[in-house]
Parts: sequence; C-alpha cells; structure tokens
Amino acid sequence: MSSLTRREAVERARLVAVRSYVIELDLTAADSFTSRTVVEFSCTEPGAESFAELKGAQTAHVTLNGAEVPIVDGRVKLAGLAAENRLEARFTARYSPSGEGILRFVDPEDGQTYLYGQAPLDDAQRMFVCFDQPDLKAPMTLTVHAPEEWTVRGNAAVARRDGGRWEFAQTPPLSTYLFSFIAGPWHRLEREHDGIALGLLCRRSLAAGLDADADALFAATAAAFDRYHELFGVRYPFGKYDQAFVPGFAGGAVENPALVNYREEFLFRAGATDSDRHRRFVVMAHEMAHMWFGNLVTLRWWDDVWLNEAFAELMGWRVAGETGRHPAAAADFAIWRERWGYLADERPSTHPVAPDGIADTAVAFQNFDGISYAKGAAALRQLAVHLGDEVFLSGLREYFRRYRFGNAALTDFLAVIGDAAGRDLTGWAELWLRSTGANTLRPLPARAAGGPAGLTVEQSGRPLRPHRLTVSAFASDGSVLRVPFTIDAAATTVPGIAAAPAGTVLLLNDGDDTYAKVRFDPFSRAALPAVLPDLEDPLARAVIWASVMDAVRDGGEIPPSEFLALLVAALPAERQEGIFEEVLTFARESLARRGLIPFGPLAEVCTAALAAAAPGSGRQLATARALAGVAGVPLLRSWLGDDAPEGLVIDADLRWSLLLRLAALGSADPDEIAAEERRDPSSTGAERAAACRAAFPSAEAKAAAWEALVHDSNPRLAIANAEAFWQAGQEALTDGYAERYFTDVPAMLEGRYLPAALKVVRFAFPVYSPRALASADALLRTDLDPLLRREIADGADELRRWT
Ligand SMILES: [Zn+2]
Repeated sequence: MSSLTRREAVERARLVAVRSYVIELDLTAADSFTSRTVVEFSCTEPGAESFAELKGAQTAHVTLNGAEVPIVDGRVKLAGLAAENRLEARFTARYSPSGEGILRFVDPEDGQTYLYGQAPLDDAQRMFVCFDQPDLKAPMTLTVHAPEEWTVRGNAAVARRDGGRWEFAQTPPLSTYLFSFIAGPWHRLEREHDGIALGLLCRRSLAAGLDADADALFAATAAAFDRYHELFGVRYPFGKYDQAFVPGFAGGAVENPALVNYREEFLFRAGATDSDRHRRFVVMAHEMAHMWFGNLVTLRWWDDVWLNEAFAELMGWRVAGETGRHPAAAADFAIWRERWGYLADERPSTHPVAPDGIADTAVAFQNFDGISYAKGAAALRQLAVHLGDEVFLSGLREYFRRYRFGNAALTDFLAVIGDAAGRDLTGWAELWLRSTGANTLRPLPARAAGGPAGLTVEQSGRPLRPHRLTVSAFASDGSVLRVPFTIDAAATTVPGIAAAPAGTVLLLNDGDDTYAKVRFDPFSRAALPAVLPDLEDPLARAVIWASVMDAVRDGGEIPPSEFLALLVAALPAERQEGIFEEVLTFARESLARRGLIPFGPLAEVCTAALAAAAPGSGRQLATARALAGVAGVPLLRSWLGDDAPEGLVIDADLRWSLLLRLAALGSADPDEIAAEERRDPSSTGAERAAACRAAFPSAEAKAAAWEALVHDSNPRLAIANAEAFWQAGQEALTDGYAERYFTDVPAMLEGRYLPAALKVVRFAFPVYSPRALASADALLRTDLDPLLRREIADGADELRRWT
C-alpha cells in the first residue's frame, strides 16, 4: 500500500481545496461497517488529475461528479477535475481487532461490544474517502447509525434521533488525522465548566472506577482549561470536551478535537500512587494543549511533528506544576521525560527536533519519539528562558491568532516568535532545532589549584550552543549559592562561584533551564552522598540523579559501585516518587539485570523506604511496587498470603506484580497463574497473566511466549509477552531466542497495527544478550524497512553500550 509522499502532498495542496466532508457510518452490523461520504472540493486547475484515498474496503463504489472512478492500491483516481467537484463513495470494511481504523472490542467480563475509530496518521482513509494529509482541512459533518441502546460521541456536539441515528453538528475545519468517534454501551458522566460541556466515558465494567475518580478528573480538566485560557488568550475552540478511556488501545492517548481517547490504564482499577495521579494529569494537560497546538493550528507536513508534540509536552508539564496538580512536575520531567530525550539523542536514529525531509507518512511514524516530545520541549523551554517568558507567551498568542484553523511550519513559528522578541531566531533554530546531539558541560576541578577568579566550564559536542542556566553550589550545611549565567563557548568562566569549600556540590543547570548533559567535578562527586539526601529542592535532586545515571551509562564515567553507594545513602530519604521510581528502575533494569550491581541492596533500600512510609499512603504503595520488582521469594509469598505490611492493600494489580516476579524466579507456575487469571477475568488480567507465563523459566513457557509475541493478533497480548520474555538468570533458556529474534522480526510486523508492532519489536530485542550483536549487525547490512532498521540499530546501540 503506497504511503503519501511529501511531494504528492505539496502538489495536491496546490491543486485542491476541500470545502466539506459529509460522512455517514452504519455500525449496526456485527463484523463490518458501511461508510458513505460526500466530499465537496475545488480545483485550481480545471482538467488536472489528482487522487483521494480509501484503504481496506471490501466492496466500494466511488463516483466523481457522477461518473464512476477506479481505486488502485488504495488511491481513488480523479481525472478531469472541474473547478468545483463532488466525490461520493460508499464502501464496506471489516472492523479491526488491533486499532487500524475502527477497532471493535468485546468485553470479556460482560460480552458488551465497543467500537471506536481514530485516524492518526493516515487511517482516516479506512473510515471515509478523503484527501488524507494534514494541510487539507475541512469542516466535517458526521451521521452514525448504531444499535438502539448505544451511546455515540465524536468531534462535535451530537443529537440522538429515533432508531439509533446520531446526527453530529458540523465541526470547524479539521485535518483528516483528527477525525474520531466512539460507539457502544458506554458509561458516561457529564459536568459543565465555564460554558464547556465536559464528558467522561468508559466501558460499563469499569464504571465503578470512573465514578470514584470522576470528581478529581472533572476538577483537573477544569483547572487545566482555566490555565490554558489565561496563557493562550484564545478560548478552547471545539465546543464540548469528552475524555474516553478506551479498551484495547496500544498507545497512550490521542488528542482528537472534542474527544480525547486514553488507554484504560489511566483509569485506575485499584490503588494509585501520587505519581500515578500526577502523571495522568500531565497526560490530560498534554492532550488538552493539543487543542491549540495541533488541532487549532496544525503542522503543514510531518516534518513538524514537534510543533504539535514539543509544545503539548512543554505545556502539559508546565500546567501540571502551575495548577498544583503535580507539585514536583519540573523534577519529574527532568528525571523521567527529559532522560527519554537525552537517550533518544544518543541513538543512531537521532534527528533534529525539526527535521527537513520526512519523505512520506509511513516514515513520519518514526518521529513520535523522545526527540520530538522531550528534547523539543526542553529546547522550547530554553527559548522561553532566553527570550523571557512573557515575550514567548505573547508570541504564542499571536501564533494562534494568525494561524487559527489553519496550518503552520517551523518558519512561520520562528517568524511570529521572532517578531514578538524583536529579533531573528534563525540562528537559534539552526543550533537548537536543526542540529542533533546534546552538549556536555563539565566543571574543571579548580578547587585543587586553590581557585581562580571563577569556575571554568568546558562545553563539548557539536555544535556548541549558548546555554542560559544557573550554576549552584550546595554546601553540606544547607546553604546554597546560585549564579545565573550563559555558557556559550568551549570554555566559559563563571564568576563568583569557584571558592566553594570542600564538601560542597557544584551543580551546572540547577533549575533544568537548558538541555545539556552535565557532569560533576571530583570534589562534588565525593560530597554527593552527604549532600544529596538533605537537598530540599526536588528539581535539583532530579537533575543530580539524572546526571549521575547518565554518567554511569556513558562507559561507566561513574562506576556502578559508586552509583550503588550513592543510591544506598540517598534514595531511602527520597520524597519525590518519580525520582525514587526512576532511579530504582535504572538500577534494576540497566545494572542489576546485567549483574553490574547485586539485587540485594536494592531490596534493602526499598524495605527501608517502605518502613518509613505511612500506612495506607500512596508512598507506601509506590515503595511496595518497587520492592515487588526486586524482592526474593519469601517476602513475595508472605504478601500474596495476606501477610502484608499494615495499611498496604494487596489489590489485583499488586497481586499481579508479585506474581510476575515469582514467575520470573520460577516460584509461580502456569497453574498458579491460571488460578489468578480466574480471579481477575478482565482484559487487563489476561495481559498480566500473559506476562507472568512469558516470565516463567520453562522451555514450554518460553516457546509459547515467543509464538505469541511473534504472531498473536491481539497487539496488547503480544506486547505483554515481549516485555516479560527476557528475565535475569534465564540465559540458558533464552539465549537461543537471541538469534531467532533476527529471523522472526519481519513476522512481528506482519499484519499488525504499526505502532503496536514496533513496540513488540523494541521490547523483544535481546538487549541482554551480547551474542546478539553480530546478528544485529548482519541484519543491518541487508535491505530493511526504515522503521525496522531504526529499531534494530537502536537496540544494537544499547547492547553495545553495555558490552
Ligand atoms: Zn501529543
């Protein structure tokens, strides 16, 4: 199936302007749906040829201005265009089990059927005939025929008519990739805030969870709307606002105008930690920011995915902090999301934040990554620091006014922000958005020499960039000296800070204003175990931990043993859940999993933190979850046997976590896993059970898990198997699969929804098997699909880093 190229999109946008889509979907049949569409469009060169798209139809009938036209390889051939045209299509197509076009999900708990359709990046053409590119926006009017008792929601307000007919109002101009609807016996709650009708939806079997959380979710939504209205100066432009928790979704969330879809994990079935709630709010605020960044003003072509994602990322975290919904949002961004950006920026697959040359829509999938989201957000924050926040915001407000319901590209954005700042930002963009890689900032150990007039900071990595940042000195007595400065050369002397006494930690980029890897001088490193536990500011602690982990990754610049000593000294006192989790995950997955540090001290740190947590608190649950990932059999068994610490509820999710570790250690066998699955007959239960079976150390279990991750048609089950397959201490059983991965990897992509398939490929990569390197390199020498090549090259890169 051909993917739309950039060249084709440019040419088509020159020829065609779409006036409207009128779409009618019949969802009353069990296995397939019928779509009827009328597209009115004009053509600037009458007589010219073009094409529309229609994918996955079983039977189709398409006419242009009344005459039948052919469909070849998903493309509707449009010849002899008039100045004004009418394209009509009627087709039937099957529902998808995996998420391409319209997904159909049958709830295993009550047998109810749920449907939802979403379009990123080019799946709108699976639901209606269209010109499927982001800069051909048009108003859409949808009608849905559904079983009588269903509820239907979409991108606009809807009126329910007799006989299961749902008539939607016309939307403002939308890009095709933003079309969406949900249909089924949904449980729906509604409120109103500031003139906006708010809705929350989930399937009926999860209703209790939604009801319990509804007040918090509505209040959070309202708070974010209020803040965005203050920041952006343009009101929310899409009328009502529904948020649906949808089943079987392989992604995180999708920002469809007026109807955001979330994966169901965001609806907590059981206990939730503060971190769970904080991070969920960040996602909610991220999707809401897209109503402006992406939905109101849309990228022109996929080069500028960052124009959607970096802004939504930046604003989601910002609003989470500013509304008090995630008090340590800045720290959590630094320790979690921003590390995703640094990691992506060191991969062979790194690319500029704003690349120039995304050849087609299929390739665009690659760039929904740590660069477009996290690095992009960090670069934009540095821009705001550089220009001043008010200047940056006034530029954004003008950007929304100027490109309202239209499209924009990097140059448009730079021109508007540059006008607001009264300066040309082309040079800034070249350094920050058009180049790759992070600079490393390193203080020279001047204290040994008695201290010159200032602290000299070395900058390495090309290109050198101007970094507006704060250098801080944290003394062991709790005093802090902060010096804002711009580091812009290979060696820059920061005045007024070199005289810090021994026992002090010098931190470059305190406040996390810039995007750069930072290092410590030897004296600061020596002082870290004493200073870090008492450091008040969570953001400073996050930047320190992120830098330490990065230095461990970089060829052991800080040796794993030194990292472990710091972890033992400082982590039990860590109060910010995000920091605790990320540091421990790194210790477990990157180091203990490779035998570079033992598991024992990790369990001891978690035990100490658990003992200090208040019974029944979110913190107690967070440390219990962490401990479940590193503990030995006796503790896991005692918790499963109802001998848990006071106040800790061993709910379904925690039971599955305990069982996963027991299975990996060979203590919970398939019979016990099956018994647990009978206790939890939900779709989540099925996924958790699949992971437990995949982790169990037997030849049969590994063979079955491998078969599932390669072939299972349910993408979420395939992902669950892939995630749990490789376990510590099972090398004798799994080593053979390291070779097999490279022959089976094309089959993992076959017939699967691409984003989900790529997750399987990533999680199943034998990243703990040094023997896989030669096979990876051999495969990379062959002719590979670019998306697959990227996964293999990145996996090999991670493997090489540790071998
Ligand atoms: Zn997004």
